[in-house]
Amino acid sequence: MSPDEIDVLVVGGGPAGMAAGISFGRAGLRTLVCERGLLPADKPCGEGVMPTGLQYLERLGVSAYLDQDHTRHFAGIHYLPTSGAGAASRFAEGPGRGIRRTELSRAFCERARIIDGLEVLPRTPVTLGARGPNGTEAWLDRRKVTARLIVGADGLRSEVRRWAGLQGVSTQRRRFAVQQHFRCQPWSEYVEVHWAGDAEAYVTPCGRGEVGVAVLWTAEEKKSGGGQRLMESMLSRFPRLRAPLQGAEPSSGARAIGPMHQVARSPVADGVGLVGDASGYLDAITGEGISLALAQVQALYDSIGPWMLSNDAVPSARELQGYSRRILGMVRQHQLITRLVLFLSRKPTLAERAIKGLGRQPELFRWLLSANMGAVSAASFPKLEMMRLATALVRG
Ligand SMILES: Cc1cc2nc3c(=O)[nH]c(=O)nc-3n(C[C@H](O)[C@H](O)[C@H](O)COP(=O)(O)OP(=O)(O)OC[C@H]3O[C@@H](n4cnc5c(N)ncnc54)[C@H](O)[C@@H]3O)c2cc1C
Repeated sequence: MSPDEIDVLVVGGGPAGMAAGISFGRAGLRTLVCERGLLPADKPCGEGVMPTGLQYLERLGVSAYLDQDHTRHFAGIHYLPTSGAGAASRFAEGPGRGIRRTELSRAFCERARIIDGLEVLPRTPVTLGARGPNGTEAWLDRRKVTARLIVGADGLRSEVRRWAGLQGVSTQRRRFAVQQHFRCQPWSEYVEVHWAGDAEAYVTPCGRGEVGVAVLWTAEEKKSGGGQRLMESMLSRFPRLRAPLQGAEPSSGARAIGPMHQVARSPVADGVGLVGDASGYLDAITGEGISLALAQVQALYDSIGPWMLSNDAVPSARELQGYSRRILGMVRQHQLITRLVLFLSRKPTLAERAIKGLGRQPELFRWLLSANMGAVSAASFPKLEMMRLATALVRG
């Protein structure tokens, strides 16, 4: 193999891309991760990593590199309407962890550095070319490589998805988000989700003396007015956040993102596998993206990694079908719950009733959190509790 012929080219150095680089690289496949921006990378995100996501970080050997100062464990989720106690549930699987994106990225980079055969290139946008019998040609700045497998981990607006002809059509109402960090003592052991009728605010403890706040809303267009003004106007919808954030200095700039919903017709094509947001994304309302991305990477490696170690050929879409099947199952359950929560987000009165109902049925709330992160199967659906919740929704 010439130095320009590699096994795996990963496009994108976010959590999905770095996890893919580590998974394929440590197995002995010649792997290159290209990130078009700087590393460590930042991104507007709620930054709550669910217990299942933490298990993947442990298996990848990344957890050991996380600095306690920039992370904080949280017990579960607390839904808060504009008034009243709301509903809180601890995760059955143990705590989650708020992790600053820059810290997560730094830990991934440290872990990747000690893997022979894995190269990570920041500030390196990738342009993909023709697919041939030895793989796909790709230009990275002035260097050209040929890779047997292209892993598209380039996020919501994936160029790999378009290049591979896998772009689907979004039918959802458009949703946007703005996110910023504040210097203050985290005041809750939960990730708080505040509901304000037409928007939701997520507060994640993400370090000693720091919280992240992400506000999500539905609109035809991203609102104008720039990051900071946008954040201030969105936060004014959440009177319950005024007191805890009073006097808290911003510790990062406010950044907006969206529309969130993105569709891939399929996560695979000849010589291509999409992971993370590039493989399609519904909404951040249930805060699962990182955990789901890591689960997908594990599924991609399990489905094609051993095959690539014993074959010199380019994996065809058919060889990648195992991955496709596995992630469709994984994503379906998560999307079902996300769609249910999105529906409630459009019906403020029903949402308030649902939160009240969940407050009275903590077991059901806990089951929904487990099902959302794929820790229990939808087949274990608690019918009786669901019926009770449905009755509460109808009766008020
Ligand atoms: C408001 C909001 C809140 C969220 N909250 C949570 C939460 O609390 N918990 C959670 O688990 N998830 C959350 N998510 C989802 C989570 O942020 C994503 O699912 C996750 O970042 C997906 O990782 P990724 O690696 O697929 O994509 P990204 O993190 O977007 O990384 C993609 C990378 O690819 C790079 N790239 C793009 N094009 C190219 C190119 N041509 N060449 C090279 N590099 C390229 C980009 O620069 C980027 O660094 C949230 C999302 C949003 C929008």
